[in-house]
Amino acid sequence: MQNRVFNFNPGPSTLPLEVLQIVREELLDYQGTGMSVLEISHRSSQFEEINHSANNIMKELLGLGDNYHLLFVGGGASTQFANIPLNFLRNWMTANYVDTGTWASKAIKEAEKLGKVNVIASSKDRDYTYIPEFASHEITHNAAYVHITSNNTIKGTQYQTIPDTGSVPLFADLSSDICSRNSDYCQFSLFYAGAQKNLGPSGVTIVGIRKDMLEKCNENLTTMVDYKTHAQKNSLFNTPPVFAIYMLKLVLEWIKNNGGLSGIEKINQQKKDLIYNLLDLHSVYYRPTAEKNSRSWMNITFRLPTEDLEKKFLEEAVANRLIGLKGHRSVGGIRVSLYNAMTLQGAEAVAEFMETFMNKYG
Ligand SMILES: *Cc1c(COP(=O)(O)O)cnc(C)c1O
Repeated sequence: MQNRVFNFNPGPSTLPLEVLQIVREELLDYQGTGMSVLEISHRSSQFEEINHSANNIMKELLGLGDNYHLLFVGGGASTQFANIPLNFLRNWMTANYVDTGTWASKAIKEAEKLGKVNVIASSKDRDYTYIPEFASHEITHNAAYVHITSNNTIKGTQYQTIPDTGSVPLFADLSSDICSRNSDYCQFSLFYAGAQKNLGPSGVTIVGIRKDMLEKCNENLTTMVDYKTHAQKNSLFNTPPVFAIYMLKLVLEWIKNNGGLSGIEKINQQKKDLIYNLLDLHSVYYRPTAEKNSRSWMNITFRLPTEDLEKKFLEEAVANRLIGLKGHRSVGGIRVSLYNAMTLQGAEAVAEFMETFMNKYG
């Protein structure tokens, strides 16, 4: 595809070309219905099949058994920041949170409006450049849950191993690294992720919830907030984001056809190694901002010697058809987002551009 650029946008982000081609192919007439997926009923057999397949493939990829529900809901990951405490934070209980940056802080802010919160670890002291640890004795006795943010999209940090919280349920915002590598997803009693980084377009959020957790939900919640509503109706209580779920299914199939999470992990590892090796080799010029033992595979953040050079870097990148490399407006600098759908060729193109740029201006 000649006019496609390498798109490093942090979210919504690049999608697999193969998937977009299927969408185009099927857009006007979905499987002989004479209608677009955008036009069919969410109660039709066609959509039931899409919903069912997306669920099954995702469970298979994540290694989840029948003891989990996967919900496909609207509202973005941000809606879950409040839904979680609404469902699980009874007023005499405490929730534990780890503060690793912007998204984690937003989740904490919502929970604080709804109940008692204890932040058991934070990396705020060093500007969120690392993943803070906590000891098991720091977990509040009988806490409702411990909440972590697995990958910190803005600061470029990521858990290398998932912490053990013993008998206290572990909840996680997996928005920016879900399905990016092998991991034991059964460690989470609840996880959630907006699809628009690693799994599809915006509009659908995946919530994985262990079935026994549903019994711990608050009573008398309003219907749409209550996880039980969506679990009991297979996400079809009301009209779900039909088109986004359809595309989610196609991306999941694409992952499966590319070797599942092991296959994706292998490519993601090669991609991030290309960039981090270069940063380490030229760390005087390209200055990584995340601490080495907390580096994200998904979002690689670094600075150049001056802001003027950063500006020039971004301009020349665009001229080289490398789009979306600007760091988040709250931190500046450069961010290379290497989500699942970014190809190895894309990572190679950035690495090559970085070499050339440094040789020219360094
Ligand atoms: C992007 C992002 C969000 C926000 O997701 P929305 O779907 O836009 O609400 C939340 N958490 C993390 C870790 C993110 O990267």
